[in-house]
Amino acid sequence: MAKFIFVTGGVTSSLGKGIIAASLAKLLQARGLRVTIQKFDPYINIDPGTLNPYEHGECFVTEDGAETDLDLGHYERFLNIFTSQANNVTTGKIYQTVINKEREGAYLGKTVQVVPHITDEIKRRMLLLGQRNEYDVIITELGGTVGDIESLPFIEAVRQLQWEMPEEDCVVIHLTLIPYLKAAKELKTKPTQHSVKLLSQEGVNPDIIVCRTEEPLSPEIRKKIALFCNVKIEAVIEAADASTIYEVPITMMKEKLDLICLKKLNITHYQDAELGRWKTFLEKLKHPKQKVTIGLIGKYIELQDAYKSILESFVHAGAMNECKVQIMNVHSESITPENVSEKLGNLDGLLVAPGFGHRGMEGKITAVKYAREKRLPFFGICLGMQMAVIEFARNVMGLTAAHSTEMQPDTPTPVIDLMEHQKKITIKGGTMRLGSYPCVIKEDTLAKAIYSKPLISERHRHRYEFNNDYLQQFEQAGMIASGKNPESGLVEIIELPEHPFFIGVQYHPELKSTVENPQPIFVHFIKAAKEFAAKRTKNPVLEREMI
Ligand code: GLN
Repeated sequence: MAKFIFVTGGVTSSLGKGIIAASLAKLLQARGLRVTIQKFDPYINIDPGTLNPYEHGECFVTEDGAETDLDLGHYERFLNIFTSQANNVTTGKIYQTVINKEREGAYLGKTVQVVPHITDEIKRRMLLLGQRNEYDVIITELGGTVGDIESLPFIEAVRQLQWEMPEEDCVVIHLTLIPYLKAAKELKTKPTQHSVKLLSQEGVNPDIIVCRTEEPLSPEIRKKIALFCNVKIEAVIEAADASTIYEVPITMMKEKLDLICLKKLNITHYQDAELGRWKTFLEKLKHPKQKVTIGLIGKYIELQDAYKSILESFVHAGAMNECKVQIMNVHSESITPENVSEKLGNLDGLLVAPGFGHRGMEGKITAVKYAREKRLPFFGICLGMQMAVIEFARNVMGLTAAHSTEMQPDTPTPVIDLMEHQKKITIKGGTMRLGSYPCVIKEDTLAKAIYSKPLISERHRHRYEFNNDYLQQFEQAGMIASGKNPESGLVEIIELPEHPFFIGVQYHPELKSTVENPQPIFVHFIKAAKEFAAKRTKNPVLEREMI
């Protein structure tokens, strides 16, 4: 039987519940336990697939094609495991199930209510992964902040589960903020006291308080928090600001967060934490030998969460290359043929990001042209790949009107076109080509050198594709399809053999990069950027203050 850990949040949002949950999971995994994490989000959207990235950051896609919260990306990157449809539940999904059941007549004439029907459905979903007998511990992160109206049914479900389960099967962690008042030179515990009080009023008593803080917690402060929050003093955990999120498992281990959970869960069989590879990664991350600058061209650059998985993939690939990857965000709308050399002149590599719609498209095409002509390492993801195709058609093949039917439905030269099976689809949510699909890689290509295997599988999220009617023309002109879907022939990878490093992929390689398995295109891209930098500036050695 699986045991359950619930992670709630108090005082404010953005405290990093996902990172704390992932770090704890990492530690339990390092002790030999089988662990997974799930996230329950209180919003009414069925999933974040229909949300603008400005609202909720990146939409993370799982192997089985679920569009999920970006925290699932952290879970996968930390744990090196796959999550699935079942790992992200929203209020929308809960209500959809209950309402469908009601329409089927499943409630036998009863009044359908938040308690017990909605809370029962929440509980059923919370326990679902535990029924597979695949996990020893299931960590559930509750989105939102205690006190929010919309979180109430989730907290109530936790309350009931805490009551129903044997004492040693369940731990509740409350993540909170201990603000430091500069004027008073003091850490303040009052917001935490209030937050725990609120949680207790809702019937849930936390076993552990994890305190986000800028300053170390003194023994007195720990005692005060323990006393007023009704937990043991060793259950007050300091979560100080860290230089990188990947340091957090180590700081949580020092605070014995894992051991306290194991004790409460009465788990006695576990090994010493095996974190050798994690620590090697951290060492490399903190002590890079050189630096490269990569331009990230996108239209959501103001919001770092919009490209979360791409940024983390660069962290993994950088560490692997013992190289600091400095990201220069460039807004696609700001790039023009006149300013492109000035804007991109100091880069060692260029990544054109995924996206939707017309805005910023011409800037992206101008950036691709620059990278192609200047032999700057180029990496295009999804829309970025499509832009590389359009650029090549327009500027090399002379198809000056080349376009994507996404941006110009009546273009005479649709080199990127809506996939056939998408043409009948009108509903927006969950209807893209989603999740993992195989791709066969051609011999003697950059893709083959990168992956060193003939068959790969990567995740997708798109409606448009390379138009195969033009493929022969492209290949004759020097842009080849080096990866294709074996069944449909859909072009998954394009490259320019004449260029030192120019690759575009229809899929999202960033979704599969983890600390232990950095994604190979990112790794090779950084390697190519290092070579470009070496030629350009004789490879500057990184100075201490740049770390
Ligand atoms: N808008 C493009 C499509 O739907 C690209 C999608 C993406 O970049 N994720 O095909």
